[in-house]
Amino acid sequence: MPDLLLSGGLLLDLDTGDTTRADLLIRDGVIAQIGEISDAEGAEVVDISGKLISPGWMDMHVHFREPGQEHKETIETGARAAAWGGFTAVACMPNTTPPIATRDVVEFVLARQQSLPVAVYPIGTVSKGREGNEMAEMGDMAEGGAVAFSDDGSPVQHGGLMRRALEYARTLGAPILGHEEDLTLNADHGHMNEGAVATRLGLPGIPGLAEEAMIARDALLAEFTGGHVHVCHISTARAVDIVRRAKARGVPITAEACPHHWTLTDEAVAESGYDTHTKMHPPLRTAEDVQAIKDGLADGTIDVIATDHAPHAPFEKEVEYIEAPFGILGLETCWPLTVRELIEPGVISLHEAVRKLAVAPREILGLAVPRIAEGETAELTVFDAETRWTFEDRHIQSKSRNTPFVGSEMVGKAWGIVNRGRWVPAEA
Ligand SMILES: [Zn+2]
Repeated sequence: MPDLLLSGGLLLDLDTGDTTRADLLIRDGVIAQIGEISDAEGAEVVDISGKLISPGWMDMHVHFREPGQEHKETIETGARAAAWGGFTAVACMPNTTPPIATRDVVEFVLARQQSLPVAVYPIGTVSKGREGNEMAEMGDMAEGGAVAFSDDGSPVQHGGLMRRALEYARTLGAPILGHEEDLTLNADHGHMNEGAVATRLGLPGIPGLAEEAMIARDALLAEFTGGHVHVCHISTARAVDIVRRAKARGVPITAEACPHHWTLTDEAVAESGYDTHTKMHPPLRTAEDVQAIKDGLADGTIDVIATDHAPHAPFEKEVEYIEAPFGILGLETCWPLTVRELIEPGVISLHEAVRKLAVAPREILGLAVPRIAEGETAELTVFDAETRWTFEDRHIQSKSRNTPFVGSEMVGKAWGIVNRGRWVPAEA
């Protein structure tokens, strides 16, 4: 493998937001030299003049559908989408077929990703078979390499099981990632946010209350057990408020938000004419909820930016709204929606946004944050926050196409990653 010279980039300091111009020489996957490097004989030179460099980003919430649903996505195609979006690592949810509920499936995922430029960390189920009744073999899965536990796609409805799982996960030093929904409060099996728009459209709604009640329960269980609850895809104003108050009391709770929840509202369901690419779980909420998510990101209540990348094949989404599965792609559009909706309008600073992508997810999962220093393994993202471009179908790297953002004006672009010794460019 030839040496790699990244020339003219700007190193972003994640504490201050300051940038320093520097060339990076990478040899055998390790940062060999940082500074002004004029002669690097035989090296592959990549001109990244004026572009930013940060530690590689991690998306701690993706659905790569393998094993069992490879018509939607595979670990390989999912990793391709991740790399294109600027991510060097992801954690994949266990709602596969079979679910990642035993150590052999954990090891299967780890074996599949070894040769890819993106690290894929498996998340194991909380319950056996993801059935919500008995605790899964969490210790065994942790030994095999599972970094967290979740029944995502479904909540852990059984409070007693969640308590025991938190007590056990605590001894493993792993968080439980909560798909926060009290199913008994979503008794109508809604298809969009419960509220004025759903009433107008005549669609059964999913009340914010179902999410909020479960977060309140899990905050209490986290406080009681000392186990770490991480709230997935937070979507309502009251949910943000519950997490904020729990954190103030010192409860071991963290939270993530997804770009679609701060970019779109439930009006998009009507405006798009029931486009099934506006259907996800939790659903798109109201303008007030969008504002609360922005406030939560700004004040640190929401620690992480994650995508909930959820591919579905065209034939599955090209059906009546009430027949369509929940979920959209997220990896390709995460950064430009972060810049357009959060950084440009001044909701959060650029370096705070990058911390929520590169640092916070790894801290929550107990993984080392890559360092950009001589002698360190090269795991980094090259990006900008200025390029204006239109997201088109041809940009989609996933095996599926289910995104509402084709045709959207974007700001900011990930231009490539370095990981596992390779430079993987992401052309516009
Ligand atoms: Zn979920």
